[in-house]
Amino acid sequence: MEKIISACGLICSDCLAYRATQENDDNLRKQTAELWSNIYGANILSTDINCNGCMTDGVKFSHCDECDMRECAIAEDVENCGKCRDYPCQTISDFFENVPDAKLVLDKIKED
Ligand code: SF4
Ligand code: SF4
Repeated sequence: MEKIISACGLICSDCLAYRATQENDDNLRKQTAELWSNIYGANILSTDINCNGCMTDGVKFSHCDECDMRECAIAEDVENCGKCRDYPCQTISDFFENVPDAKLVLDKIKED
């Protein structure tokens, strides 16, 4: 499968919400909702687990739909933050403190 990367450097094609949506797998939606509810301390329902990926048309998981970095990348007309002339800005640097793997992904894109 082609690797799909979000604006902020997450791998959408590996994301449970993306996989559950593409495979229309209600069991995976349920498992993902339970897992993410526990991890994020939120009440996420299996019906919330629908996403076609960050920069792709169509349905998006609510958190990613409201993401500042996604909105900024669209405004800057870049595929992801690694392709932005201001990378790494303060917003994405703050995000990396919680998600260091995303930095590895975007640093590599910036180098290429
Ligand atoms: S945009 Fe969708 S597929 Fe990508 S990380 Fe967010 S929830 Fe997962
Ligand atoms: S300014 Fe920051 S958040 Fe916006 S696209 Fe560039 S790197 Fe991403």
